[in-house]
Amino acid sequence: MERDELRKLVAEMVRIPSVNPLDGPIGEGQGERELASFVQSRLREAGIDCELHDAAEGRPSVVARVPGGSEEAVWFDAHLDTVSGDGMAFEPFAGRVEGDALYGRGAADDKASLAAMMAALMAVAKDASSLPATVVMTATADEEHRMQGLLSLLKSGLTARGAVVGEPTGLEIIIAHKGVARFKVATKGKAVHSSRPEDGVNAIYRMSKVVQALEAYAKGGVGRDSHPMLGRATLSVGVIRGGKHVNVVPDRCEIEVDRRLLPGEEGRKALGDVRTYLNSALQEELGLEVGSPDLVVPGLSLASDHPLVQCVSAAVKEVTGQAVLSGMHGTTHAGQLVAAGIPALVFGPGAMGQAHTATEELDLNQLEQAAAVYESLMQSGCR
Ligand SMILES: [Zn+2]
Repeated sequence: MERDELRKLVAEMVRIPSVNPLDGPIGEGQGERELASFVQSRLREAGIDCELHDAAEGRPSVVARVPGGSEEAVWFDAHLDTVSGDGMAFEPFAGRVEGDALYGRGAADDKASLAAMMAALMAVAKDASSLPATVVMTATADEEHRMQGLLSLLKSGLTARGAVVGEPTGLEIIIAHKGVARFKVATKGKAVHSSRPEDGVNAIYRMSKVVQALEAYAKGGVGRDSHPMLGRATLSVGVIRGGKHVNVVPDRCEIEVDRRLLPGEEGRKALGDVRTYLNSALQEELGLEVGSPDLVVPGLSLASDHPLVQCVSAAVKEVTGQAVLSGMHGTTHAGQLVAAGIPALVFGPGAMGQAHTATEELDLNQLEQAAAVYESLMQSGCR
């Protein structure tokens, strides 16, 4: 694909809003359907076999396949959805280009990787007879919330001997990142009229003790281990809900907790440790309920001498002149792929700090370099 055509493609995709609807109904400008159809029709125009796979009602992922010399596949994945464009410093879906920069929600996270993978796939599909391995490319739904798109593809049996997950890494190769376990904690009380609070039990007062205990737990250093690229595990209380009216003593208060996992740490075990800690730190009746995890995403840690890392490093060095291996804090699909037995790493265009910001932008020069790297990996079958 010509340079200008590739730049046009990513801008066009930024102009198709694909905001993750989270747990709500799919509203205007939300959901993956329109972008999935766009990706499918562009790939089909290039003669590529391409299907939609519904992760949930109205939430399709795209699965494209270019058969190679062996059934064994290499998998390239980028996600369709974005976070909300609300509160951005400019019109989020205008796809404005100025010089070598593209501005908009999804420009870096993750439409740049998606466009670069599409361009690479179209290039190798022109002469697939030389491909050593089948190339699978997926444009997945719901990465930003529950990863339903990827999980349902794994459940359907899609597999590969290696995977490259496209995310804005600034063309660095990410071989380690944290995972996450999210869960709710509630306190129960007894509701009475606020004119006689002494007859009730205030669930918010109870929760304030729990929150303080969790703050102390987080400050004291979470978990025992430290990872050379990622440091320690963390814990953060992100949401609190409690009470219905100011004149009623609340009978329930709930918080949402985000526990970042080091690679190899299990979500359930981490949650069990929090439960044990709270039970010993709070030696009084608080009507405490610690729920099971709502979401667990495993961390990622691939050895730097793993064949996939070696091969991606060589391809990146060939195109950009250097190959940097690093870790990052956010979670990606790579953790899920590794947990499913598929070696995976993360590599893509766009600066790491751009994702989810009010001024999200993409350096378009990185787009072309990433497409060249993906194409070279598809050609070699990641060997
Ligand atoms: Zn992303």
